Amino acid sequence: TSNYSVINNPIADNLVDHFPLCMQHLYQNLCENHHLKHYARIQFNLFLKGIGLTVEESLAFWKKSFSKVDEDKFQKDYAYNIRHNYGVEGKRQDYKPLNCMSLITKHRPNSGEIHGCPFREFSQPNLRAKLVQMGVRNDEHIREILNLAEEEHYQVACTKYFEITKGLLDKNNDSIIIETIEHPNEYLNASVLLEKN
Ligand code: SF4
Repeated sequence: TSNYSVINNPIADNLVDHFPLCMQHLYQNLCENHHLKHYARIQFNLFLKGIGLTVEESLAFWKKSFSKVDEDKFQKDYAYNIRHNYGVEGKRQDYKPLNCMSLITKHRPNSGEIHGCPFREFSQPNLRAKLVQMGVRNDEHIREILNLAEEEHYQVACTKYFEITKGLLDKNNDSIIIETIEHPNEYLNASVLLEKN
């Protein structure tokens, strides 16, 4: 299990090992800083919605996670947007969890922001460090993922990361099952399914 589940929030903590790298990164930062900026909140909140959290569960999650923010500020600055993602405020549009293509191409992070896709946004040294932190230790595997990211095959890099971390490569280093990851929630569902089988 994860070593950064410091929020002790059963909904996320129980599933954190199934999160793709983008969501691992956001959740890790949330645990450390008790805060996420605007686009990171949208990305993670819609991901939680995709997992099946109700708007009430999501509000409870964020309240607990933003533990340094008092109730007034939470209601004023954050709760509206969280409910908005669920379509219970504003235009009442029911926003869908963001797919990889949106996360890779839209609202790219400025300095100080951490949302988006790590395979696109991280420098090569930072991506390498992150992969090692997540348990990818084989040099050939690390090089393969870094090369894919450098060649702008971000989703293929993510898929390779999935295969490597789940032990899905055969002895020739070829993939046995999986199609290219298109959506963070699809990544999570595939990971949960694997554990069940
Ligand atoms: Fe997340 Fe998709 Fe990037 Fe994988 S490819 S880290 S699921 S945005």
